[in-house]
Order: sequence, then C-alpha cells, then structure tokens
Amino acid sequence: MSDQPQNEETAKARREMDSAAGNSSFAHIQHDANEMYPHEQADRHLGPLLTDLGERTLYDAAAQCNRCGYCETSCPTYMLTGRETISARGRNQFVRMLLEGKARHTADAREALSTCLLCGACSSACYAKVPTADIVLEGRRSLDGYGDNFFARAAVKTLLDAPGLFAFWLKLAYLVKLSGLPRLANKLGLYDLLGMPGLSEAEGAVGKVPLRFASELLHANPALRAEGKTTVNWAYFAPCGPNFLFTDVALATVRVLRRTSGEGIFMENLCCGLLAHNYGRMEDAREFARRNIVRYEALKAQLGEFPLIADCSSCAAFMKTYEQLFTGDEEWRPRAKAFAAAVRDILEFIPAEKAGKADPAALERAGRVTYHDSCRACHGQGIRQEPRDVLRKLAGKNYRELNESDWCCGGAGAYAFTNPKIAAMVLDRKLRNIASAQADTVIAGGTSCLIQINAGLRAAYPSARAVHYSVFVDEVARETPAAQ
Ligand code: SF4
Ligand code: SF4
Repeated sequence: MSDQPQNEETAKARREMDSAAGNSSFAHIQHDANEMYPHEQADRHLGPLLTDLGERTLYDAAAQCNRCGYCETSCPTYMLTGRETISARGRNQFVRMLLEGKARHTADAREALSTCLLCGACSSACYAKVPTADIVLEGRRSLDGYGDNFFARAAVKTLLDAPGLFAFWLKLAYLVKLSGLPRLANKLGLYDLLGMPGLSEAEGAVGKVPLRFASELLHANPALRAEGKTTVNWAYFAPCGPNFLFTDVALATVRVLRRTSGEGIFMENLCCGLLAHNYGRMEDAREFARRNIVRYEALKAQLGEFPLIADCSSCAAFMKTYEQLFTGDEEWRPRAKAFAAAVRDILEFIPAEKAGKADPAALERAGRVTYHDSCRACHGQGIRQEPRDVLRKLAGKNYRELNESDWCCGGAGAYAFTNPKIAAMVLDRKLRNIASAQADTVIAGGTSCLIQINAGLRAAYPSARAVHYSVFVDEVARETPAAQ
C-alpha cells in the first residue's frame, strides 16, 4: 500500500506534524528507535508490544501504520471532528515523531494522545492490526507528569496494599452521598482522596450506591469458598466496577453461573490492575497482576484447571493480555500467559443452549431489547456472536440489532470525565441509534458503558435503560436448562 497521504487534509496534517521538528519535552525519550526509553523511565512502560505480527518495539509497532486511512471511518474522534491529528494514523505518526525527537508541538501531541478513546475500533478495521490503543497509551506514559498525580498514586497504593482502607474511604464517600450531602463529599475531597475525582460523577450517574461491596457479600457465602473442594466448574473474578459500584451485576453473574454451569467459587481477587496500567502506574499494575496470578495458581493447585470469569469487559480484556506486562521477565511471563488463558468474559461463557427459557413477564418488562458491543468486548476480545446468540434465544422477536452497535459510547473508563465534550458527541450518536432501534433495554458488558449510556438515556430517552448482560440474563431466564 502507498505510504503517501490520501487526501489534502492528510497532507496538511502531515506537513504540520513534519514541520514540528526541533526541541521538545519528548526529545529525550528516544533518538535511537531500538532504545525504547531512558533507563529511568523503563518502569513506566511496557516492553516490546505483542502485536498480531509478533513482538515489536513501540517504534516499529507505530511504524507499521502505513497511513492507508482504511480505519478512518471507524475512529469516533476522527469521524466527529474530521481532524486528522486525532485519527489513528495521526496518533501513530505523533508517537513515531515523539520517539524520533521530532515533535515540538507538545500541546498537539498531548491532545492527540489524551483524546483517544482507546476503543480499538481502528485495530479491528486495520489489515495490519496496528495496536493503536497500546501505542497511544505508551505515548501518554512518555508525557511529563503522566501518572504522577499524588491522589491517584495514593489510591492505587491503598487499593493494592490496604484494600480494606480503600473500601472504608469509599463507603464514607457513599455514606455522605446517602445522607443527601453529595456536594459535601466533593467539598471534603473524599473522591480526590480516593484518587477518583470522576467517581463523584459516576455515583451521581448510578443513582444508588452499595454499602456492602460484592466481595464482602460473596465472601460471606460458604458455597463460594474453595475450602474443602477438589474441583470447580468456574471461579468468579470481581472487577472493581461490579465490586464497588454494581454489586447487583456481580451477584447476578454468580447466580447465572451457578444456574448454567454448576458449582464454582469466588476468587477473592484484587483489582486486575487496569486502572494503574491506564493511568501511568505500570509497576503497580504488574504487582496487581502478580498477586492475582499467585492467587489463581494456588487455587489451580488445589482445584485443577478452571475458567476464570469476569463481568466487566475492560477488565477481562486486560487480564487476557497479562503476558504483555512481563515480556522481559522469564519467570512471570509464562505464569501470566497461563493466567490469561483461563480468563473468560461472562459475555462469551454462557452457551445459548444453557441460557434457559425466558420468563414471559420478565421479558415483557424488558420490552424491546438491543445489544451494545462494549469496545473491550468486540475490539478487545473479538466477542460479538456469543452474547447475541443468548439474547436472541431469550428475547426472540423482542430482540433488535442496534445500528453501529460497536460505536463507542464515550464512557471509556474516565474519558467521559476527562474529555466531556468529545464524550458527549460520541454518546449522542449512540443515543440516536438506540432511539432508532426504539429499544427499551440496552444490554452491555462494560460497567463504564452502563454509567455512560444510562446517563445519556436519563437525559434524552428516559423510557429506556441500560443493563448489564448478567442482570438481564438473570432477570429474564429464570428456568434452568433441565426444567425446559
Ligand atoms: S492504523 Fe492501520 S488502517 Fe489505520 S491508517 Fe494505520 S495502517 Fe491504515
Ligand atoms: S482507539 Fe478508538 S479513538 Fe483511538 S485512534 Fe483508534 S479508533 Fe480512534
């Protein structure tokens, strides 16, 4: 394919970027493309990227983008703004230039990198499967100050080393909200203390908050403990969203698993590390991963092989790439690979024939049902068909496909709070498609999708609601397969 720009706009953007040669705060990063980073920065970054074409340095991965533009129409930020610099090829070129020490307009580079949704839609469309989201994240980690936020660092450390204290702070914040003084929580900086300023918006969008977290409820259930067992059909991994905010999702997942797949356990896991990974705390992300791997290995030694089920697609997708965290580590790399091979998203785990039969009253309450492909499910894990098979079986003629179902909702972790303008534009297109489908219930597998879509629906289309896949299956499919 041609290495030439495809149109005038692209040529202009390239001229702008090419003219940016000179000094930059990135110039120190990498003049030699084979030397990934200065030694003191190595801990902040991944090693070689595991791409579809094999292991690549960051520079080589970015250079694999031949700027063909084939992915342009898949990229939400490009489609909504028409700006080349915030398209996949624009971002890949920025990273390449940063690594070459050629980019001077750091504000442009920051904007290009910080506005990426990390949705992965570009990689799905790309013949070379250029991992733009990974490349963008590595670029962000090179920015001065990225990951240095005191509160975020304290929150990650607390979650890692004192999860009980983290839970205490979070409950305190929730209690203030329940007392009817949510502004006080903001004023006191309770969410900042948790390193999650976006959480105040999130809990506002959720409406009700739990005072007992899923991990506490599941731990209290003796049927879900490993003690005394020699084999299990599954283990449940509680991601932070279902654990700390959507306990109904975690409990529904466990009920669905028990009904469709028999007995299993709760893994008593730590956070998967995605937050630390995405917000500049790479060594902490590795430590989360190591501790989860150790826990998994201990269970495996007792119980043999079992699938590890997570019910937030972002976390499931991230855990499937644990090997990427340890490419330079001979001891941990194979252990991470074995862990990743056991991970399953709940969206892909329930076979349609085991889903059960729909309860007519529950189905009527759900109304017209549609499915939103969470980015980290479809682009991150290639999961599209399995949840549809289950939903079509349960909802029958009440199921309707959503136009542009894999268009990002704009939630993207904390994106809606860090880039509210673009997030609102991205969400608006999702809401229009939901309205066109005349859907009453939108099913999703990502917890940030639930927050984002429900916030949008409440404002623009209040007769509809977004629910997690597990909650829908749990509510609608009451009968066991055996009872059919
Ligand atoms: S990311 Fe892939 S599809 Fe997009 S411009 Fe680069 S090579 Fe082409
Ligand atoms: S990850 Fe999403 S927002 Fe970022 S460049 Fe790719 S398609 Fe665009």
